[in-house]
Amino acid sequence: MNTNEVADRREQIARSLRSVNGEVAAACSAANRKPEDVRLIAVTKNFPASDVVHLASLGVSDIGENRDQEASSKAAEVGLSAQVRWHFVGTLQRNKAKSVAAYADMVQSVDRGRLVTALGTAARGADRLLEVLIQVSLDGDVERGGATVEDVPGLAQSILEESALSLRGVMAVAPLGWEPARAFDMLAETSEQLRSIAPQANEISAGMSTDFHEAIACGATMIRLGSKLLGHRRNVGYPVR
Ligand SMILES: *Cc1c(COP(=O)(O)O)cnc(C)c1O
Repeated sequence: MNTNEVADRREQIARSLRSVNGEVAAACSAANRKPEDVRLIAVTKNFPASDVVHLASLGVSDIGENRDQEASSKAAEVGLSAQVRWHFVGTLQRNKAKSVAAYADMVQSVDRGRLVTALGTAARGADRLLEVLIQVSLDGDVERGGATVEDVPGLAQSILEESALSLRGVMAVAPLGWEPARAFDMLAETSEQLRSIAPQANEISAGMSTDFHEAIACGATMIRLGSKLLGHRRNVGYPVR
């Protein structure tokens, strides 16, 4: 890319960001909430490391990725050129726990006990404190990732027992075919139940490009936006595995 293309891309992202910030402010105002209580996570999967650097220069320093290989390459590529916090938001296999614990600041997709143990061991080994969210499967279809609502308390307990993990809250994706508000209300209830066990675990990560308004209305403290900020995903050649 030449200098003009780089500047154009940055301007394009700046423009989407202004529009997103406006929509977030409007959704917050409608819900009687403060915009600073909703954190924007830019999901950069399938976009190049240079977009992460642009986002950081525009003040978006929370970056989400859903595949370990792509995320670890990108984190290495970004290196010290931008100060960002990496959020892992995808399905995570235990054998990737060590890799993820090396660069991620938060894993939003913790959904089973064996993954808790693997991440806890990996974070301890790396001498890092890893923040985690419990991913909740609102329709109980755990094949698509997430723990059932009933499994949340037990999972929370095992996270609390890991010295290198810090339990911060819950995350969900609205199930296909559901009214987003129904899904996010259910997540808010799950969050309330979790806080009766772990009062500090008050983050609610909910809402993507098409449903973040509803998520904000239902109390989301983090929204995860990809296409709305960066456009249609192009594959930029990060290996899939
Ligand atoms: C890709 C992804 C997002 C962002 O999706 P968009 O629809 O592009 O905003 C959010 N959360 C998760 C878990 C994702 O995998």
